[in-house]
Amino acid sequence: MQPQPSRSRISARRLAALASVTALTLAVSTSAGNSRLSPGSSVAGAGPSALYRTSAHGPCMISGDSHIQMSEGIPTAQGYTRSTGTVRALTLMIDFSDAPGEGDALDRYREFFPKTREWFATSSYGRLDYRPEIPVPDWLRMPKSFREYGIERGAPFDPGYRELVDDIVAEADHKVDFQSYDLLNVLVTPNAGPAALDTVLSVTFAGNTEAPTADGVPVANASFVYSRQDDGSGSYDRTGYRVLPHENGHVFGLPDLYTAEGGGAVGHWDIMSEDWGANNDLLAWHKWKLGWLDADQVDCAADPGTKEYTLTPLARTGGPKLVFVPLNRHSGYAVELRTRAGNDEAVCRPGILIYRVDANVDTGMGPITVYDSRRDSGGCTRTPNVHAELSDATFTPGESFIDRRTGVRVTVVAADENTHRVRVSRTSPN
Ligand SMILES: [Zn+2]
Repeated sequence: MQPQPSRSRISARRLAALASVTALTLAVSTSAGNSRLSPGSSVAGAGPSALYRTSAHGPCMISGDSHIQMSEGIPTAQGYTRSTGTVRALTLMIDFSDAPGEGDALDRYREFFPKTREWFATSSYGRLDYRPEIPVPDWLRMPKSFREYGIERGAPFDPGYRELVDDIVAEADHKVDFQSYDLLNVLVTPNAGPAALDTVLSVTFAGNTEAPTADGVPVANASFVYSRQDDGSGSYDRTGYRVLPHENGHVFGLPDLYTAEGGGAVGHWDIMSEDWGANNDLLAWHKWKLGWLDADQVDCAADPGTKEYTLTPLARTGGPKLVFVPLNRHSGYAVELRTRAGNDEAVCRPGILIYRVDANVDTGMGPITVYDSRRDSGGCTRTPNVHAELSDATFTPGESFIDRRTGVRVTVVAADENTHRVRVSRTSPN
C-alpha cells in the first residue's frame, strides 16, 4: 500500500517581518554571531544558517513577501534553529496513561538514532554536527491522557498542543536545562493516536513566536513524531526514521514541498517532499539555504548571454553543485547533478535536475516544481513510496530545458563519471 503524503503538517508562524524578535529558538546560543564557521568565508544574513555568498550572488538571493509563512527565500528568516556547526537536539520520549510506553523508551529513541544524526552528517558534508541528547532516558509520563489533549493532524497551535508543550516542560524541567539545547524532539509512544498509514500526526513548530517558555527560552523549534511510518514493505527498520530529518528540516527553516495533491511537484528529489520509502537527499537549493555549500559551489547566472558551467554530483563533497538562473526577485531556475550516492539511494536516472524555486509560494503550496524531461513516461523506479513519474525527470547529454517565455535554455553538453557540463543561455537579464 502506498501512503499518500497529502498531509497537512503546518510548520511555521509568520516570521518574516519580525526582524526585532530575538532568542526565539530554544537555545540562547543560536544567534548568527555564535555559529561555528569556516574561517575566511563570507558570511551574510542574520538568519539561522551561515550563508556563504559573494556580491555576485545578489540577484540569486530571491525572497518572499512578508505574507509568506515559510519561504524558500535566501537567507532564511530569523527564528529558526541554526543549521551549521554543533546543534544539540534535546530528545524526549513521552507516553500517556491511555497509551503507556511499550518496552524501553530507549528503543523508541533507537528508531531514529544514530540514523538521523548520520543523515544530517552525510547531507551537510559534515557541516551539521547534530547531537541528540537524552537527559531523561525513560518514558516521560504526561499528566493527562492522550485523548484529553485532543491532538489532531496539522494543528500545532491548538490549545491541546500548547498544553502538551507546557506539560512536557513541567515534567522534564527538574532534569533538563532547556537553555542548553538548540531544538526539541518529542518522540511520542507509537501507540498514541492513529497509525501513520491512516493519518500522519507528526508535526513541527518552527520559529514559533507564540511558544511556551522553558528556563526563560521559548520552545520555538520543536518536532513531534507520532506512530511509525511503516508501509508494511518490510523497510521500516531502514527507512522509518526519515520522518525526523523531514520534521527537523522545518526547524531549520525548510518548507514542505508536497502539496494537497501529494508529492507530484518534486517527487523523491527532496526529503521535504517525500519522507516515506527509500532514502533521499535535499535539493542543492536547500543545501545552499542551510549553509552547507560554499560561495564558489553556487553560480548565479543573472546576465544575458550564454555560459557553460561544470557540476559535480550533489552527494559528493566538494566541487560546484548549483547553478541558479534568477527570473525576478522572487523566483528562478535551479540546476544540479543528482546521482545514486550518499543519501540518494533511489536515483534511477542520474543526470541534471532542473526545478523552479518560487520564494513567494508558501509551504505546502508548491514552492518548488521539478521539470520532467520525460513527461508521462511512468518513470524509471518501482521502489515503493517513491513518486514514479518524476524519477526519470533528469536531463542527460544532448537534452535541453527550454522556457520560451523567459528565454532561458539549459542544455546538458557533456558528462563523464565525475562531472556534467551544462550550457545556460538567457536572452534577457532577470
Ligand atoms: Zn513537513
